[in-house]
Amino acid sequence: MTWKLTRTAINNEELLTNESLFAIGNGYIGVRGNFEEGYGEGMTSIRGTYINAFHDETGIEYGEKLHGFPETQQKLLNVIDAQTVELYLDGERFSLFDGEVLNYEQSLHFDRGFSERIVDWRSPKGKEVRLHIRRLTSFVTKELFAIDYRIEALNDVKEVKIITTVNGDVTNFVDPNDPRVASGHAKRLNVLDAKHENCTSIVQNETYESGLKVACTSTTQLADQTEPEAEVAQGEVKETYTASLESAVQFTKKSIYTDTLRHGDRTAENGAELLTEVSDQSFDDLLAEQKDYLDSFWSTTDIQIDGDSDLQEGIRFNLFHLLQSAGKDSVSNIAAKGLSGEGYEGHYFWDTEIYMFPVFLMSNPDLAKNLLLHRYSLLDAAKERAREVGHTKGALFPWRTITGTECSAFFPAGTAQYHISADIAYSYIQYYLVTKDEAFLREYGAEVLFETARLWLDTGHFYNGQFRIDDVTGPDEYTCIVNNNYYTNAMAKNNLVWAVKAYELAGDAAGCGVTAGEAAEWAEAAETMYLPYDEELGIHAQDDTFLQKKVWDLENTPKEKFPLLLNYHPLTLYRYQVCKQADTILAHFLLGEEDEDVVRRSYDYYEKVTTHDSSLSYCVFSIMASKLGYDEKAYNYFNKTARLDLDNTHGNTKDGLHMANMGGTWLAIVYGFAGLRVKESGISFSPTLPEQWNRLAFSIQYQGRVISVTLEKARVTYTLKSGAALTIKHGNNDVSLTEQEAVTEEI
Ligand code: BGC
Repeated sequence: MTWKLTRTAINNEELLTNESLFAIGNGYIGVRGNFEEGYGEGMTSIRGTYINAFHDETGIEYGEKLHGFPETQQKLLNVIDAQTVELYLDGERFSLFDGEVLNYEQSLHFDRGFSERIVDWRSPKGKEVRLHIRRLTSFVTKELFAIDYRIEALNDVKEVKIITTVNGDVTNFVDPNDPRVASGHAKRLNVLDAKHENCTSIVQNETYESGLKVACTSTTQLADQTEPEAEVAQGEVKETYTASLESAVQFTKKSIYTDTLRHGDRTAENGAELLTEVSDQSFDDLLAEQKDYLDSFWSTTDIQIDGDSDLQEGIRFNLFHLLQSAGKDSVSNIAAKGLSGEGYEGHYFWDTEIYMFPVFLMSNPDLAKNLLLHRYSLLDAAKERAREVGHTKGALFPWRTITGTECSAFFPAGTAQYHISADIAYSYIQYYLVTKDEAFLREYGAEVLFETARLWLDTGHFYNGQFRIDDVTGPDEYTCIVNNNYYTNAMAKNNLVWAVKAYELAGDAAGCGVTAGEAAEWAEAAETMYLPYDEELGIHAQDDTFLQKKVWDLENTPKEKFPLLLNYHPLTLYRYQVCKQADTILAHFLLGEEDEDVVRRSYDYYEKVTTHDSSLSYCVFSIMASKLGYDEKAYNYFNKTARLDLDNTHGNTKDGLHMANMGGTWLAIVYGFAGLRVKESGISFSPTLPEQWNRLAFSIQYQGRVISVTLEKARVTYTLKSGAALTIKHGNNDVSLTEQEAVTEEI
């Protein structure tokens, strides 16, 4: 039951949100859950098909452009639309917004990898049909998007006319009033070719500036193969079939998407070849492949909760979308909205490394490795960016990007978030700790650690025996350009410590010209890193001035003023103690080095000034509430995390799903309730089971082993499913695990 999301009625207010929720994707293509036949006259839809990283470059227009501001940015494009299938039943057009919907069921299947609609419909003139429409984007042939359609007459309907189109005349969605959505450049694709040959529709587009091409090669296979009538006009290829409805009519539309980034100059040719390769596969064959792929994914990634089906649904929904959005090749990553919408223009942020990468790392390390390799491919661009900003050495990773260049036009809450470089370094460190893959550290990790360490040395400075980092922005985007943001300094320190370790382990194998002297300087900066602390409050200050500012009166701020960023000038926000999201608390989670009393006071303090206007916040507060024994808070924040998109609590799910938060759901369970921590010395758990649940079960991968963890009332069971014996920590106690033996401990 909790393996699918289902709607049994159509609510016009929720159409756009459902387009995101019912999106399908495979990391390469993403298709929003639009209706094949569209909506009614004048109704808005964000009709979208995206290819991960497929973008155009657009110029950034500034009122005042200062030195080092990026001149261009990338934008994920809505590509050729192959979703459309229209029906005419004895001449009447099928639309869910005309006639009468007798029965309706729309589902997204997390375990089987497809979405479907089952509709019983009566036309205005009383013709009744049952439609069964299924669609998938293949996890095996990543270029393939398939729609399977079945039409059955329920009363006297004689004939159906089917029009299926492939449309290259497409635009992106824009909203000039929301900074989280693009405000211009809606149309960025020219149609190069649109034709119909051998029962195949072929449309090829090219971007205005980036020179990238995309092709869609599509064919519709009717059970009783009839030749279509074809028509080509304005970048659109239209096929029309007419069939008798004496018996049910079934057809499968297969569309292959190819693009320059993966298929070079042969996009169209590759499309035709791939279409031939899948031509013998029935929709059921494709479904069987999906199932195999997902069985393997869920076997290591599923989390089971006994006691709350709404949360169970939320967890699986979130993990499924995470998988659907994660780039699995070397040219793509995971966009902030995945492949489900256009918010944040398909850009990659720190969201990947801090919120999503760990999920894959602990469940599917190979997928995690791809994400690291992709970031590694952007290292040269990060070095260039550092020079543009004025650094003489090091790598500054862009705040938001697709190809590696900075796409943030708003530097206070964008480019100034230098912490992203330490966050990326952190992910390489975590990968090493979890896999012990020394070769990877030598070949890739060391260089990233060295170049980011160099950035810190060039950004900060020694002053009165301390290493300090001025004028950066931490994760909290309501407090910008500050000196000594605790999160940044603490993460930079960790970055430096590990750069030294990598040097000790691998020397300068990466060929970066690191000398013992330089490594010693890193060590000194790490050692003396200034971490602001307020003696009176007994907490780490978010930065040098945060605690001296006026506290924002959150209690008396009207509900409709949230999120604050849409209602107050940034400077107003910067002048107050008010946080958009977890900042210092996040550092306490990631680094875990502070005394528990400090962390507790810190939590109590920062919770009161945090709005959680960013969806990246709840999960962190849930994790740390679990650590501190604030069970009710841990549970409540977790609830908000698990169902954020399902319940559209941030009100903008229409622009795409909140992918970092989706990863955060997994983190809040594994790092929160189960209390997992990964250190050089090994792994530890400090489990607590929310009293609302009877059981919680999941597994993790650790250094070639699979360990399953089951929490029940008052006890936890650890089982080493495969791999060499290991000692872990349960609280402060050592627990020895040997293969296939379950060990139960009290909690
Ligand atoms: C958050 C950032 C995040 C970005 C993309 C913003 O609202 O404040 O931390 O990286 O969204 O998800």
